Amino acid sequence: MGVYYLDERQFTAFVTAVIQTKRVVGPVARRARFAYEDLESADDLRLDFDVTILPPKSVFFPPAQAIARFDGDEVSSCICPVDTVLFGVHFYDVKAIDQLDFLFRENNADWDYLCQREATTIVGSNIQAVSSRAFWDSVGTEVQPLGHDAFLTKVGSGYVFETRTAKGEALLEYGDFREATQDEIAEAERVNAAVMGTCPERLAYTTEEIAEKVRDSFGNEKMWDELAERCFSCGSCNTVCPTCYCFDVVDSWNLDQKSGSRTRYWDACLTREFAAVTGAGGSKENFREHHSSRFRHRFMRKTTYLNDKLGGPACVGCGRCSQACTADIADPVRVITKIMEWTS
Ligand code: SF4
Ligand code: SF4
Repeated sequence: MGVYYLDERQFTAFVTAVIQTKRVVGPVARRARFAYEDLESADDLRLDFDVTILPPKSVFFPPAQAIARFDGDEVSSCICPVDTVLFGVHFYDVKAIDQLDFLFRENNADWDYLCQREATTIVGSNIQAVSSRAFWDSVGTEVQPLGHDAFLTKVGSGYVFETRTAKGEALLEYGDFREATQDEIAEAERVNAAVMGTCPERLAYTTEEIAEKVRDSFGNEKMWDELAERCFSCGSCNTVCPTCYCFDVVDSWNLDQKSGSRTRYWDACLTREFAAVTGAGGSKENFREHHSSRFRHRFMRKTTYLNDKLGGPACVGCGRCSQACTADIADPVRVITKIMEWTS
C-alpha cells in the first residue's frame, strides 16, 4: 500500500465526505475527557485526545448487544453489520483490538463480534497528547500493532496517511490526497518515534521477567490480601480495559412467555458474582469468593495466562484502569513493581 499527504485545510472536507456515506466513529471531547462517539460533524473529531474513557472495542463489542430473538422454536440472529470507519485509534488500542480479533476467532468464531469488525475500517492516529497514567511505551514492546487499515500522523501543517489494506486505500477517494514526499514520510517516522519514552509511568522489567514473578507469587496470599485490601469489587478496572472480553448472557422473555431476546453484556471478573455458580439442589459455590483472589486473577490474566497465545501480555499500558479505580489500587505499574520488589 502507499503513503500519502493531506493538507490540514483539506482534512475537514475529507472527514465530512466520509461521514456523508458511512457511519463514522471517533474521539470527541466530553468535559475534560474524551469518548468514542458517532460523528455528525468533522469538527467534533479530536485527534489531539490523550486517552478515551472507554476503549474503541465498543464499536464491535458494545457494552450491551442483542445476539438473538426467539419465538417458540424459531430463533433469529441479530447480526446486522454497518459499514463503519473508526478514526483516531492509538497504537496501543490497535494492539488490544488485535488481541480481541484473535480471541473472538479462536475455536468457535464469534460472528456477533467478527461481522461488525470486518465491516469496520480502522484509521490509527499518532499520539498527540499523553495521558497521566499511560505506560504503553514500556509494556509488550515486542508486540507490533497490526489490525489497522490506515494510519494518520500529524506533521507540520498536514497529515501523512499510510494505507495498509485495501479498506484503507479505499478512503483515498474521499480526500484530496497526493503522494507523500520522502521528507514528509521521514517526519512522520520522527514524530511517532519521539513520543516513545514520554509516558509518565514505566515498567522496568521485561514481559518474561514479570510473567515469571507474578506466576510464582500465586500462592503468596498475604501479598495479594495487602494489594487488594481496599478493593470495592466494583469492576471498573475491567470495564474500561481494552483487552477484557468477558461477557454475560441474559434472556428476556415477553409476556407471552414464548418469545423474547438474548443479550450479552460486558462482565467483570472483579465483581463478587462473576465466579458464582449454582450447583445441584440449589447449592451455591463461588470459585473466587474473596476480593483478593479476584484481584490476583486479573493480574494473572494481564501478565501471565494469555502471554503464549497472544505473543505478549494482555495489557497494552493504556492506564485506563489506573484512572478508573476509586481506591487507586489497580495501576498495573504500581502493582507489578511491588510484586517484583517484594519477591526479589
Ligand atoms: S490492564 Fe489497565 S493499563 Fe492494561 S490494558 Fe487494561 S486498562 Fe489498560
Ligand atoms: S481494583 Fe479498583 S477498579 Fe478494580 S474492582 Fe477493585 S476498586 Fe474497583
